[in-house]
Amino acid sequence: MSATQNNKVAIVTGAARGIGAAIAQRLAADGFIVVVNYAGSAQAAEVVVQDIERAGGTAIAAQANVSDAAAVARMFDATEAAYGGVDVLVNNAGIMKLANLADSDDALFDSQIAINLKGTFNTLREAARRLRSGGRIVNLSSSVVGLYQPTYAVYAATKAGVEAMTHVLTRELRGRNITVNTVAPGPTATSLFLDGKPQDVIDRLAKLAPLERLGQPEDIAAAVSVLAGPDGAWINGQTIRVNGGII
Ligand code: NAP
Repeated sequence: MSATQNNKVAIVTGAARGIGAAIAQRLAADGFIVVVNYAGSAQAAEVVVQDIERAGGTAIAAQANVSDAAAVARMFDATEAAYGGVDVLVNNAGIMKLANLADSDDALFDSQIAINLKGTFNTLREAARRLRSGGRIVNLSSSVVGLYQPTYAVYAATKAGVEAMTHVLTRELRGRNITVNTVAPGPTATSLFLDGKPQDVIDRLAKLAPLERLGQPEDIAAAVSVLAGPDGAWINGQTIRVNGGII
């Protein structure tokens, strides 16, 4: 059931599936008009939009590869044209490619830099230029930034860069009444985490947190909801690890 509409507009990147879909659903239930960004999953994005509308919310699907600066600018243009402005940006789109550094090829490095780091830069740049007063930006990092696990060097480096941009942008937006924060999930049950892992590895990683389970996309969406909503107004420039206590 959708809450009363708050007339605020949220763009969620990579919102067709996984954590992004849960964030889109949650923000719609909180009363936001939601732009469901996707890169390739057009059908899944349409399903998220339909689910939101069926629950009484307002949403639209928007195709844009976040690593393409012009496509990102067009998505912001289209959002402003449809709804009059943008209030919330959630930088959720991301990929993870794991290998020991010695075995990592250029494609592994370049693709993660392009989507996780440049993609976040592209959307942050548009948001910094356009977000209305009272706006909120939430970036997705990862708890692996603090875990130093083998095979995560490049992925963790892109997310460390996202955290650094969060802190700098917070200061650059002084006087605009816009908060910028990062949510850093631990292992969360989506295809990004589950695909290609044997069940015994999944079970072992699920037990690492003192709460002894994997995160669910809704656990992460709940934290984003606080940061995007009225209760998050005084939280600014923080990286919040949402991971059951894994670190
Ligand atoms: P997921 O299930 O693999 O979903 C990834 C999403 O990112 C998809 O919706 C995908 O869209 C989108 N995406 C990928 N490349 C894109 C691009 N170039 N432009 C626009 N969208 C793009 O992953 P997830 O687990 O939900 O991850 C969401 C975020 O949480 C990521 O930033 C990830 O690094 C972070 N995270 C995840 C975990 C975890 O354990 N799952 C832990 C820590 C952090 P299409 O399907 O349309 O291509």
